[in-house]
Amino acid sequence: MRISIILAILALTVGASGQRDFSQVSITITHVAGNVYMLEGAGGNIALSVGEDGILMVDAQFAELAPRIEAAVAEISKGDLKFLLNTHYHGDHTSGNPAFGDRVPIIAQHNVRRRLADEAPEGWPVITFEEGLSIHFNGEEIVARHYPTAHTDGDVLVHFTGSNVVHIGDLFNHILIMLK
Ligand SMILES: [Zn+2]
Repeated sequence: MRISIILAILALTVGASGQRDFSQVSITITHVAGNVYMLEGAGGNIALSVGEDGILMVDAQFAELAPRIEAAVAEISKGDLKFLLNTHYHGDHTSGNPAFGDRVPIIAQHNVRRRLADEAPEGWPVITFEEGLSIHFNGEEIVARHYPTAHTDGDVLVHFTGSNVVHIGDLFNHILIMLK
């Protein structure tokens, strides 16, 4: 069975001031398989489940990119965003949370909320879980499973079971071992 894997690639572009420069970042869209699309911009890649139920987004990259991410999503579908799921708390996956979290519930492993509550003023997950959670959406089961003591203490792997795609956040070393 062919499984498509979405990797989060950390390509850090830090200017002399220490502030990242997002002015040259554009969002590219790739149809991965089945319902699942990938958006690449800066920081962790975004996965989208797109279909009749609307849109589920996995990770949100950086706040500065939110308007460009919204435009890319609208190119794929006019459906409504329904859920945002975070793979872990790092800023290149969650600093865009506030741009979406006022409209849709943010879902994450419990430790992601705990860490964001320490580090970020807003954009915290409102639905949390310990070991795993299933979202039945766009005709398939989307399974988020916690891998403790991995890249952070809150990492999840997100498996789009019908589309045969996994979004592995920043867990790639562990996942390459698991799939052998
Ligand atoms: Zn990370």
